[in-house]
Amino acid sequence: MRYSMVIDLKRCIGCYACSVACRAEKATNTGIMFARVQRLEWGTYPSVKRMALPLLCMHCKEPACLEVCPTGATQKRDDGIVWVDKDLCMGCRYCMLACPYAARMFYDKEITYFDNGRTPYEEVGTPNHVEGTVEKCDFCMDRLAQDLEPACVANCITKARIFGDMEDPNSEVSKLIRDKGAAPLNPEFGTEPSVHYLPP
Ligand code: SF4
Repeated sequence: MRYSMVIDLKRCIGCYACSVACRAEKATNTGIMFARVQRLEWGTYPSVKRMALPLLCMHCKEPACLEVCPTGATQKRDDGIVWVDKDLCMGCRYCMLACPYAARMFYDKEITYFDNGRTPYEEVGTPNHVEGTVEKCDFCMDRLAQDLEPACVANCITKARIFGDMEDPNSEVSKLIRDKGAAPLNPEFGTEPSVHYLPP
């Protein structure tokens, strides 16, 4: 079993539903975004092209972040999910420097959205975050434990995100990788990402 996500760049319309769903699911602080969408533009007017590039932790098979973690806080599960044990993280941020995909963020201190303290929603989500530690996407492993898809997958309105086991030859992600050419971003980094992209 190795969890994988395939993102179909032809289907992605850059609506940010994934970003909003991730933020709602994880109750992340302002400035922290596990499911980013980068807007790219190239060409010269009037021949200009645009595309949206969703980014997240690539859940690498050979994670550069894990190699440099001095406390063992960054761990990889047998199903390929790379996650951070907040009780072990000392906030040194070596992992942020090591990650070639800029997938990690530092939770410096709690910042509420409104001046008069936490909203009821923030009350629920904030205890999951520990000031002075590094955070990132964990493929919604809490949802997976309840047989739910990651929030970004479940809320993608164009079904641009497909999630499954890339070691199961009959899974949709395996077929997209094998038959449709879904490939990781920047494979030259050598970390063997689990996240793959179908070309725009
Ligand atoms: Fe680690 Fe970065 Fe790979 Fe995620 S994308 S597993 S944070 S090296």
